[in-house]
Amino acid sequence: MPAKKYSKAKLNKFKKQILIKLDDVNLEVSEMKEGVVNQKPTKSMSPDSIYSLHMADAGSDSHQLEKNFLFLSRENSYIKNLEVALERIDSGEFGVCALCGELIPEERMFEVPNATKCVDCKTKDKLNL
Ligand SMILES: [Zn+2]
Repeated sequence: MPAKKYSKAKLNKFKKQILIKLDDVNLEVSEMKEGVVNQKPTKSMSPDSIYSLHMADAGSDSHQLEKNFLFLSRENSYIKNLEVALERIDSGEFGVCALCGELIPEERMFEVPNATKCVDCKTKDKLNL
């Protein structure tokens, strides 16, 4: 039985979508980074510096800073997910359930481009069936 796959045209559509999303996120991140730099011009922005700022009770600035860092780390993992999705498009694994080999519905792939399991398998996985 031949492996199921999305057509080239479909994959290109997904790729475009993902690239647009990547652009959006990268823009947001760079804007946010500029904001962070403007707020606190230190060389290294380690989590420790947030912590010490917090401990020093620097007020709402540090709170905002902390929120920015949370945002950035979330965006960074989102970017990674999108990059993984692009790799899967190139390798031909994109949109195919790793467990049952069925195609994962398009809507889901638009929603979660790095999904590797169909909803059925994911649910079963969660329930340990
Ligand atoms: Zn499956």
